[in-house]
Amino acid sequence: MPFVHFSADDIRWEGQADKWQKSDKATRGHCSTCGSCIYMFYHSKPEEMGILAGCIDEGLESVGEVQACIYVEEKPDWAELPKGVPTHARGYSDG
Ligand SMILES: [Zn+2]
Repeated sequence: MPFVHFSADDIRWEGQADKWQKSDKATRGHCSTCGSCIYMFYHSKPEEMGILAGCIDEGLESVGEVQACIYVEEKPDWAELPKGVPTHARGYSDG
């Protein structure tokens, strides 16, 4: 799932997402109606908010270049990673 990272101060929320915290590293936000993932908030980067690109329907002309691929050890065989982009077996904090 591609996330677009923004400054947390630049995001204005309308409504409340359901929060899910699998670990102490991050909190995920999900739509309280359909359960779709909306955002990922890494506790080590409180100044950033990763919004799922598919949730952005206006105000953005491009999502820009891919900066990193995470959780690549769990990717399906059919998924091709972009060339020349840093990869992380799991999350950003695995080095
Ligand atoms: Zn929904």
